[in-house]
Parts: sequence; structure tokens; C-alpha cells
Amino acid sequence: MDNKKTYFRKNIDGMDGYTPGEQPKDMRYIKLNTNENPYPPSPAVAKTLKSFCSDRLRLYPDPLACELRKTIADIFGLKSENTIVGNGSDDILTIATRAFAGEKDSVACFSPSYSLYPVLAELQGCRCTRIPLKFDGDFAIPANSAGKAKAAKLFYIARPNAPTGTLFPIEEIRKICRKFKGVVFVDEAYADFADDNCVGLLSEFPNLIIGRTLSKSYSLAGLRLGYALASAEIIEGMMKVKDSYNVGMLVQAVAAAALKDRKHFNGTRGRICRTREYLAESLRKKGFTVCDSQSNFVFAAPPDNDGEGLYRRLKKNGILVRYFKGPVTGRYVRITVGTDGEIRTLLKNI
Ligand code: PMP
Repeated sequence: MDNKKTYFRKNIDGMDGYTPGEQPKDMRYIKLNTNENPYPPSPAVAKTLKSFCSDRLRLYPDPLACELRKTIADIFGLKSENTIVGNGSDDILTIATRAFAGEKDSVACFSPSYSLYPVLAELQGCRCTRIPLKFDGDFAIPANSAGKAKAAKLFYIARPNAPTGTLFPIEEIRKICRKFKGVVFVDEAYADFADDNCVGLLSEFPNLIIGRTLSKSYSLAGLRLGYALASAEIIEGMMKVKDSYNVGMLVQAVAAAALKDRKHFNGTRGRICRTREYLAESLRKKGFTVCDSQSNFVFAAPPDNDGEGLYRRLKKNGILVRYFKGPVTGRYVRITVGTDGEIRTLLKNI
């Protein structure tokens, strides 16, 4: 018997925990495995860091992050009371799960989707209903998804989806928000690389939360800043659940500076989207099956459908991509859009 485990709650004992993508230390790779941005963040980030007076760190940060939330609200034409910030959008997802789903409740998500969702459910001691996406070359929302989610308290929907990159039609999201009785969490971690987003639905649905992050489109994965947009009522409840000081003073200052530099943001995401199209087209020419992506990565199956084989071959050649086991996902690899140079090297190695 493994005595070490007996101190833990049953659900913690019984779970594996989330497995993040590799951050290898053994050698220098072309790193296309965790959807980081290959370009540097706004120069306003370095400027803010340089001018930051370290004496201020004596004090606790603003627990309400007023200035940062106002900056976010202004971008979307919303009010500060419609925003909450967190230690990455994973923190926002944790806050939502803790706020809306209790022990023995259930949550819902699609499959395949972001693998953290079922882990959050397990942590909370609740069930997770996984609704398989329709697979017919692409991954689409199946009919009656709100019905299939049954009595779930929270429905996580990544849009664009990860790891497939699919941008589900807004009309499908609207249908789910209308029919589903719980809270719909549309995870828009990658929405800055997409043609549209669900922010416009916020005025229609008080049960909608939109999650965002600075990790991808702002090149700030190391900073850890995520946020949510929702009705004032939902935000008020989520504020009760978050750690009092869940975003540090330095992070608040740097994030606000990066968000204000719209020119840098637009330039970087434009470059990524152009390289994504080049990557998808080049892979298709090589006989790959490539999901239409509206994200900063592409999900692509080699002609022999051996995703794991390709992952291993590329790793040997110093290129890291992400591989997900499974009867369907195992055919693919997920490739983060790097610089043009990195993508040219990748294509030469395929
Ligand atoms: N949502 C999705 C769909 C993701 O892929 C990720 C990145 N792993 C996140 C949220 C979390 O990103 P972060 O915590 O860096 O904001």
C-alpha cells in the first residue's frame, strides 16, 4: 500500500495532474510545441521594467488591479466591472471552476479540446462530460451540444479550439448560450489570431464568460497575465473566489503597458497569421491533412497518419512540436507558428 498518498483527498489521489508541454533544458530546440509567440513583446515592456522602482515592492499590489482592468475594459468598450485579471488565463479558468462547480456537480467540454478542463474538474471533485467533436476531416460542434452537456454547471469551449485551431461558428456558441442552463466559458486564448470573437455576445448573455491571455498574442507567456470579460454580476462573484493578490504589482504595470501598445500588437499578430497560412499551404502540398486554423498553431496529420513518428523524427533533428495520444489526435502533430525562418527549417526537415 502506498501510504504517502493517504493524506490527500480521494480525487487528488486518483488523478494524474495536468501535463504541460515540454520546456527542455538538454539542448537548444526550435521550439514549436507550446504556442509561445516567436517575436519579442512590445518595447513598452522593457521600458516599464527599467523605470519600475523596486522600493514599491515592499507594498502589496492593488488587489482590484484597477488601472489594468480599466485598460482592458477600454480596449473592448466595456466597464472595469466587466473584467477580472488572473495569474494567466489558467488562473481565470480555476477561479471560474471553483466559483460555479462544486463537489459532485458536473462540468462539460468538447473533446479534443484544452486538456486542462477535465483536470480542473477532477481537482474540484466534480464530473466532466466530454462531448466528442464531429470528425469529418475537420472538428465541428455536434448537434444538441447544450442537451448533451446536461445539468453541467459550467461549459468550457475553446474558440479557436486547441489543439485543432478550429473557429466554431459564432451561431453555434449563441445556440449553446441560449439553451445551456449553466455558465458558458468561451476560452479565447487564441482569439487575437482569428477573424472574429465572441465579445459581442456579452451584451446578449449574462451566463457568458470570455477568457483571454497575454501569453500568445502579446508575447508574454512568462509574465502570467490572463483576464476574463463577463457581466458585472458574474465578475463580482468571481472576485470573491480569486486570491486577494493574484496578480503582482510588476505584472500589473507591465501588462497595462503591453496592452496599450496597439501598433506592436497588430504588427505581431499579422505576421503570425501570414506565416500560419504559408505553413498550412506548404504542409498540404506535402500531402498533410491540415485543419483550418484561426490560431497561432496548426494541427496537421502526415500522409502516413503517424503523428508520434513525426514528433520523434523532428525532435531528433532539434525541432519540438506537440503530440497528443489518441485514436484520432494521435494521427496529428500540433505545430506552433514560429518565425518564417523557423518554419522554413521545419519544412526542410519534414
Ligand atoms: N486556454 C487554452 C485553450 C490554452 O491553450 C492555454 C495555454 N496552454 C491557456 C488557456 C492558458 O494560457 P495562460 O495560462 O498562459 O494564459
